Amino acid sequence: MKLTVIGFWGGYPKVNAASSGYLLEQDGVRLLIDCGSGVLAKLQNILHPEELDAVLISHYHPDHIADIGVLQHARLIQGFLGKEMSTLPLYGHQFNQSEFSKLTYKEITKGIAYDPNRVLNIGPFQVSFLKTDHPVPCYAMRIEAGGKAVVYTADSSFKEPFIDFSKEADILLCECNFYGHQNGKVAGHMTSIEAGKLAKEAMVKQLILTHLPHFGKLSDLVNEASREYPGIIKLAEEFLSISL
Ligand SMILES: [Zn+2]
Ligand SMILES: [Zn+2]
Repeated sequence: MKLTVIGFWGGYPKVNAASSGYLLEQDGVRLLIDCGSGVLAKLQNILHPEELDAVLISHYHPDHIADIGVLQHARLIQGFLGKEMSTLPLYGHQFNQSEFSKLTYKEITKGIAYDPNRVLNIGPFQVSFLKTDHPVPCYAMRIEAGGKAVVYTADSSFKEPFIDFSKEADILLCECNFYGHQNGKVAGHMTSIEAGKLAKEAMVKQLILTHLPHFGKLSDLVNEASREYPGIIKLAEEFLSISL
């Protein structure tokens, strides 16, 4: 399984950057996890929009879905220009009907509701879900393929069940919107210390801090997390790519 970070800013993208978007590839299948602001522009450094096989959405905040509309336009226009492609499945939850309905667009994309209580199969990927603590319904994902596991917390404050859910994952892609001295609970986000604690207790092989804040010194997030977790810690960065 190959993971490539497309965008990692929390809330909105920094200048010339992107908010949440992560590309997973296995056996030639390309799955985009979240499609936030700036993701379509950045993604085109790696592949053409018509080459995506599926998109999986954690929740309907703009920093995770803002570029769905332009992704639909890109495939529509490339279709007019003669590119052959099938309807793109966009997997999202159904607990916000008006947002879910926007995932279906002509024959270009089709919204498919995932049942968070069941394993979702997308080509070679098996995805299980955990409801997060966030102001709107949001799901963390454990994505397994080729004997490897990537856990993406999506947006959430810390909750105990994350530990079992992330158990021994090869990569924990953990949101880290706050510094250690802050309290992320009310906003529905985690701190660096909580990310480190989770990585340690779940005994993951590698921690990537993402959904990063627009303030402070980002390297402090790594230092703070490393007080809890002795393993490999990286800050998400554009096009950071890891093959498992
Ligand atoms: Zn977010
Ligand atoms: Zn959110």
